[in-house]
Amino acid sequence: MQMTFKDRCALITGAGRGIGKRIAEFIANEGVTVICVSRNDANCSAVADNIVAAGGKAVAKAVDVSDAAAVEKAAKGFLEEYSRIDIIVNCAGITRDGLLLRMSNDDWDSVLRTNLSSCFYWARHLVHPMARNRWGRVVNISSVVGLMGNAGQINYASAKAGMIGFTKSLAKEFASRSVTVNAIAPGYIETDMTSGIDDRVAEHILKAIPLRRIGQTADIARMVTYLCSEEANYITGQVFTVDGGMVM
Ligand code: NDP
Repeated sequence: MQMTFKDRCALITGAGRGIGKRIAEFIANEGVTVICVSRNDANCSAVADNIVAAGGKAVAKAVDVSDAAAVEKAAKGFLEEYSRIDIIVNCAGITRDGLLLRMSNDDWDSVLRTNLSSCFYWARHLVHPMARNRWGRVVNISSVVGLMGNAGQINYASAKAGMIGFTKSLAKEFASRSVTVNAIAPGYIETDMTSGIDDRVAEHILKAIPLRRIGQTADIARMVTYLCSEEANYITGQVFTVDGGMVM
């Protein structure tokens, strides 16, 4: 199926590495101007430079998405420079794993702020302008852990579950303005985030995946790209698991 993208501008957070990088590349490949955001300027700049070298339109900006004031400043700057942001993909995320007894307040706060509050910070500044334009796409990268829970990840699972409530509520608030809001719940995807997982644990996870392979960043990027296209205009408030069949 051919996907249609008009002259759009997309903000992709977490675009410096892993899943977000691949999403930025896929969406840029459709002719969309992409703003690549990550914590580290070198990472998002390298991604944007590669996209431009391949003939796409991309810029980079280092923004700490867990910092409400930094997001406000960046969002206002983007609106001034590009006049509108049509697509937001919230992909920036971190883990700070530990069992409840050993989890510090800081482990809790930083994971909630980076994964969940960041979605709210961007939305506060960028979704009303989308509504005025009568077109918008928000895609939030949650996790299967937000659906199932996971021992040792109370902070991360709470943030990822929160993103699902956020997605459905925002979808209801803005559906009448043709702004769609969806979430993707990836399973186990091969990136830096999962590279530290112990071999024995990885073997155990693999056994729980009916399709018997670890997911690739492109598996997620394809789904995100579709949800951002014109063709996905009748889909909102949904959570799509892309996990090789782990959650059925
Ligand atoms: P990576 O660790 O490979 O990349 C994370 C990205 O998020 C990096 O670009 C990083 O920036 C950025 N980031 C982290 N914190 C901040 C911050 N405070 N401000 C701005 N940017 C930030 O992760 P993945 O690609 O694996 O994961 C991407 C998303 O997918 C995450 O939300 C994760 O929770 C989710 N996910 C991942 C799964 C997996 O198996 N990999 C499974 C389910 C969900 P920088 O490059 O500058 O460090």
